[in-house]
This record gives sequence, C-alpha cells and structure tokens, in this order.
Amino acid sequence: MRRLVEMNLAYIEHYEASNLDQLSVKSYLKSDGGINTCDLTLPIGLGTFMQQIVERNPLPIQLNTIVTNIDIPSDKNEPIRITTKDNRHYLTKYVLITIPLGCLKANSIQFTPPLPDWKQNAIDQMGLGLLNKIFIQYPSTFWDEKLDDLFIASNSFRFFVCHPHDHILVAFVCGRFARKLEQQTDEEIVEEIIQCLKPIYPQIPKPIKWLVTRWSCDPFAYGSYSNFKVGATHETSRELAKECYDNRIYWAGEHTNYGGTIGCVDSAFESGQSEAKRIYNKLNILLRD
Ligand SMILES: Cc1cc2nc3c(=O)[nH]c(=O)nc-3n(C[C@H](O)[C@H](O)[C@H](O)COP(=O)(O)OP(=O)(O)OC[C@H]3O[C@@H](n4cnc5c(N)ncnc54)[C@H](O)[C@@H]3O)c2cc1C
Repeated sequence: MRRLVEMNLAYIEHYEASNLDQLSVKSYLKSDGGINTCDLTLPIGLGTFMQQIVERNPLPIQLNTIVTNIDIPSDKNEPIRITTKDNRHYLTKYVLITIPLGCLKANSIQFTPPLPDWKQNAIDQMGLGLLNKIFIQYPSTFWDEKLDDLFIASNSFRFFVCHPHDHILVAFVCGRFARKLEQQTDEEIVEEIIQCLKPIYPQIPKPIKWLVTRWSCDPFAYGSYSNFKVGATHETSRELAKECYDNRIYWAGEHTNYGGTIGCVDSAFESGQSEAKRIYNKLNILLRD
C-alpha cells in the first residue's frame, strides 16, 4: 500500500517537476487551470509550430540574438533601448518580455532602472521546477511491448515512457534527484538506470545510444517550467504578468498565464497572444490620436 501511495505522489512530483515538500498545498494542482488536458505530439518538435506562425505572418524575427540590457528612460516620450550581446541596439516604444522564469531569476537581462520590488518579489516567489528526460535506445525491446509506461516504487528512477518500436525507454526525473543527476556524466546516469532496471529485467541488454537533457544548466532556461511553490498563488503569476515602468514593459510566458494553466505550451501561447493584443490596441489608439 505504501509503495502504491508513493507511486501516486511521484506522479504529482513529475507533473509539477518539484518535490512535494517544495510545493504549495493551498495552490495544490491549480497549475492545470481546471481545464481538460489533451495530448498532442509534434513529431519534429515545437520549432515547426513557430515556423508555421512565422510563415503565415511575415514577422521580422531575429534568431540567435541574446538580449542583455533594457534601459527605460524616465521620460515616457523617450524610446526604450534594448541592447544585445553582440552590441546591437534597438529603440522601441513598448517591450514584451517572454524569457523563461529561470532567466528572470538568474537576472539574465539587466534592467535600468532595476525592476520594481513587487515584480522582483513575484519572480523570487514563483516556483521553478526541473524535469529532465533520459532517452535510451537498446538493441531490442526487452520489456512487455504492450506497456505504455513503467512505474517503479523507488527513490530514484520512478517513471519510464516506452517506445517499443524503436526499442527506446525514456526515463523522467524531477526535482532534487534531477538536479543531482545533472552533475553526473551521461555514462554514469545510464549505468544507474541499468542497475535500477536489472532486478526487474535481469536480461537487460547493453544500450546502444542515449540522450540526456540538463534544463537547469541551460542558460536560456535555467529550469524546466514554473509551479506554485510554498507561498505562491495565482496572484503571484498575476504579478508576473503585470506591466511596469509606466505601462511600457509587458510580460508573457508560461509563468504569467494567471487566468488559465501555467507551465504548459498553451499557457505561453495564450499569455503571449493576450499581451500582444494589448500592445497592438495601445499602438492603434496612439496612431488614431
Ligand atoms: C522536459 C519538459 C517537458 C515538458 N512537457 C510539456 C508538455 O508535455 N506539455 C506542455 O504543454 N508543456 C510542456 N513543457 C513546458 C513547455 O515547454 C513550456 O511551458 C513552454 O515552452 C514555455 O514557453 P515560453 O514561451 O514561456 O518559454 P520558452 O519556450 O522557454 O521560450 C523562451 C525563449 O526565450 C529565449 N531567451 C532566453 N533568454 C533570452 C535572452 N536573454 N535574450 C533573448 N532570448 C532569450 C529562449 O532561448 C527561448 O527561446 C515541458 C517542458 C520541459 C522542460
């Protein structure tokens, strides 16, 4: 019975990408916004989704352009100045910031003057989870081909997604355990997985290929997605979404979607659309005036 309970609790930890002792009880499972979930896999990645949007709307997108500084003059009639790592400058009336919560926590962009306290507090208060995936391909499928997932009542590797046709198992790891694994080499991690599966599958063959994600080391993410840690509520994500600097700096991204889900692709999309519309309307009013 205890192992069953642990496996169910592990499900929540994987969904929220954090350990239970970090998560808010008051905001328990509020991150799904009460919507019915539906799964859709984009076979060649989210990049194709972005490409479709760009092809349908000719947008002047600058890829591989890292923003380092945003200077907001106190005079509202002066333009905001955006500086990039390769020392390019952009002048603009409004800015919509969509970098991940992890980058905001790491101060990847320097704001001048600094962010107001209420915004910085919300950035600090919101939880940031860590979920990593370890893809391992074997020469053959040694588990029951009918299984979609494997759950193991353990403190280490607890959840695997099965792809029997390609002989691939994907281990999901989260929270502190994921953080610890990020310090190890790929080979050490793969060996730990083999040792974890061996008692169940003594005939496990030697893997042929593997791929390990390390989202907390990625300087364009510093984590996987947000959650309500102890003390955080929908009000925190509302503060993350709230514009500042005399309504000239706007905010979007999965962590800001206070009306609906947080942490998901739809959260990012919804929040981006709603904030972009607000800026668009504002610019239209200015043009009409
Ligand atoms: C392992 C894992 C599994 C997930 N599973 C699911 C799932 O099943 N379903 C689901 O809906 N969601 C899932 N998610 C979450 C989903 O991917 C995110 O919620 C979503 O991508 C967030 O979108 P975003 O636009 O807010 O941020 P991002 O997609 O992170 O986009 C932010 C962009 O900002 C860029 N950036 C960062 N710093 C700078 C800078 N200084 N200058 C310029 N650009 C910068 C980054 O390179 C990035 O392109 C998963 C995430 C992970 C990590």
